[in-house]
Amino acid sequence: DYVRRKKPAWLRAPLPGGEGFARVRSLLNEHGLHTVCSSAKCPNMGECWARGTATIMILGDVCTRSCGFCHIKTGKPPVYDTDEPRRVGEMAAILRLKHIVITSVNRDELPDGGATIWAATIREIRKASPGTQVEVLIPDFCGDWDALQIVLDERPEILNHNLETVPRLYTAVRPQARYRRSLELLRRGKQQGLTVKTGIMVGIGEKDDEVLTLIDDVVEAVRVPGVAASDPETNRDPLAIPDPDRSLPYDDAWRSDPVVPLSAHPRADQLAHPAATYPGVHETCDILTIGQYLQPTKNHLPISRWVTPDAFAEYARYGKQQGLRHVESGPLVRSSYHADEQALQMA
Ligand code: SF4
Ligand code: SF4
Repeated sequence: DYVRRKKPAWLRAPLPGGEGFARVRSLLNEHGLHTVCSSAKCPNMGECWARGTATIMILGDVCTRSCGFCHIKTGKPPVYDTDEPRRVGEMAAILRLKHIVITSVNRDELPDGGATIWAATIREIRKASPGTQVEVLIPDFCGDWDALQIVLDERPEILNHNLETVPRLYTAVRPQARYRRSLELLRRGKQQGLTVKTGIMVGIGEKDDEVLTLIDDVVEAVRVPGVAASDPETNRDPLAIPDPDRSLPYDDAWRSDPVVPLSAHPRADQLAHPAATYPGVHETCDILTIGQYLQPTKNHLPISRWVTPDAFAEYARYGKQQGLRHVESGPLVRSSYHADEQALQMA
């Protein structure tokens, strides 16, 4: 479909500038830190940086993956800078952040996908700035659930992992990722009592009904079924959705694979109830963000449509109706947009 290059009025954001913006930029430079805001050319930089919020990108600025929407460099990352976690902590303390969002490139070449660095970064933030809530927007660690556990053990206030798009488009949008693997990651965070968040872009080729199905999938996959997170005998998750075969194109396999509600799992009643371990666990994904895809350069995937504010409102209404606790849905919404306020909604 032909989409006119000119953005609709609802997508125009104020240009970056002002004192707050300049301060954040110079602090980031001084500390040698990368942000997803500038690497991904986010349209909200003016607003967010002026408010003193930025999404810090750890583990360097070269990614081992090549998502079709992403402006971050792909290649072989250089050797990791082990002092980075300390500097992130220092930055959180200087900016007196109430809420920090940390994300990373994918480091699939590292044995643990960078999980120990993630954990060290969370610890350094807690040490340097104990009042700061930590939101981690993590990669899928190629489905290495031991690596994921290293991060979960640090108990971040918000565990965020983006599905990015509907499963049919994974080959083009997230070729090295798997829809069901990402759902499984969210489910594991939820089962361990964390506040769980995910996000997608729209206007990248999906249809409205696929967005609604994705919402259903999120609600279903993340639902806490009332059983323990692991079988004490094998220390493995007895209800885990099987790891996908990485060599297969995934989209249709997922669709034709009937989703068994976890509560209907035959062994559900043989396992301990998690309520005792994690009081106050909500039985759903907590936060979903939906925003308009913007093509960073003409070499990236084209914009398929400008989704109207009314359609965004409709996604939010549907998500809430299905039981999501908070849906942040709008043209300029990004995973980390107003993340501090989204977190407040969870309080
Ligand atoms: Fe940065 Fe997120 Fe704000 Fe964009 S929305 S400028 S990525 S903090
Ligand atoms: Fe970009 Fe994909 Fe790498 Fe994330 S995993 S930084 S979206 S290329």
